Amino acid sequence: MNLLLLGSGGREHALAWKIIQSPHCSNLYIAPGNAGTALCGTNVSLSLSDFESIKNFCEQNNIEMIIVGPEEPLVNGIADYFEDSPIKVIGPSSAGAKLEGSKAFAKRFMQRYNIPTAAYREFDASNYQDGVDYLHQHSLPIVIKADGLAAGKGVVICQYAGEAIAEFELMIQQSKFGDASKNVVVEEFLDGIELSVFVLTDGKNYVLLPEAKDYKRVGEGDTGPNTGGMGAVSPVAFADEEFMEKIEERIVKPTIKGLQEEGINYRGFIFFGLIKVDDDPFVIEYNCRMGDPETEVVMPRLKNDLVELFKAAADQRLNEIKIEQDDRTACTIVAVSGGYPGQYEKDLPIEGLDTVGEENTLVFHAGTKNVEAAVHTNGGRVLCVTAYGDDVNQAIRSAKQTLNAIDFDGMYYRKDIGYEFL
Ligand code: AMP
Repeated sequence: MNLLLLGSGGREHALAWKIIQSPHCSNLYIAPGNAGTALCGTNVSLSLSDFESIKNFCEQNNIEMIIVGPEEPLVNGIADYFEDSPIKVIGPSSAGAKLEGSKAFAKRFMQRYNIPTAAYREFDASNYQDGVDYLHQHSLPIVIKADGLAAGKGVVICQYAGEAIAEFELMIQQSKFGDASKNVVVEEFLDGIELSVFVLTDGKNYVLLPEAKDYKRVGEGDTGPNTGGMGAVSPVAFADEEFMEKIEERIVKPTIKGLQEEGINYRGFIFFGLIKVDDDPFVIEYNCRMGDPETEVVMPRLKNDLVELFKAAADQRLNEIKIEQDDRTACTIVAVSGGYPGQYEKDLPIEGLDTVGEENTLVFHAGTKNVEAAVHTNGGRVLCVTAYGDDVNQAIRSAKQTLNAIDFDGMYYRKDIGYEFL
């Protein structure tokens, strides 16, 4: 069948790479894609907010399935838009996407189903002064979260009450993130180690995909500002069988049950952002799509036919599927533009891409574009180099070897991805 994949990052290149390995895939189109996805299928220029154009394109090209990479089209209702059409969408309805689109919704949902998460309160302009009083007496650090989507910047961890109150005021009174911060979640700080767990669900059944750990800070040793992600590893050594069972029983199953009980149409990925506190898992956040750069290690470790999984999710028969994982370790290192996550230059030629092709190594493009015969940078996160190994050490060594052959002006990457597991 013909498929359309929406998005343009490293996640989408990794999904495209996996999709075209399926005998079910006749033609893959990617909108808008990048220079890497162009190696897997046909990039098409479509706006992800223009559902009507997407529908017209699908009808003209006999597309049977749309796979949605990023969250915005899901929060904006792309799955609802296609609900009565024969075109299947992999991604939840807008009601399901609220798990990511509204932190307050997600917290209330977790409370209803007794899913372990940090204690919290919700505030807006109507109880602003209560919020200030609450912040004054709360233990520190404390976490302030804009309710809505804020391009990954809506969470602030504050060490001092004054800082927390200033942030609270910025979000609610000064609309720091526009409507997204009209409503604010104030949360207890959880101290532990984070990991990401992914499921594909049909709203009733689910399959558990390989877990991963990502590295958000730009600097080595997890220092400096947050980014979209500088690297990831899978599997996660501390996520042993016993811990994964706690995650399934306490978090995954009640989440799926909650979606079902509330009549929420959900056929797509759920990304559980978790934290291990002592020996117990807690939910930090839900996302309604795969993570980036986690996808760049999860897809390489998934042995199943991905399109077969999508078909089973669309037909609500994921109970028939058994997931098979590659036993090897996969690590990805993200090469970013100099200056990222602050200001950076774009449109710089990338050298060395044609010479890389090491066994056990995959180069996924993120912010790249084709310029005549060359590939140029087109974003902050430019390339994700994934490598397999018998352990983290070996995988990281291979990824670095490949990165050594690649260059663009100002290129930077973290040399310490996976450091806790060496
Ligand atoms: P979120 O957008 O909710 O994933 O938050 C971004 C990051 O902030 C998370 O990946 C965590 O590192 C951190 N964070 C969020 N909430 C908490 C919390 N309650 N305790 C500790 N860290 C948190």
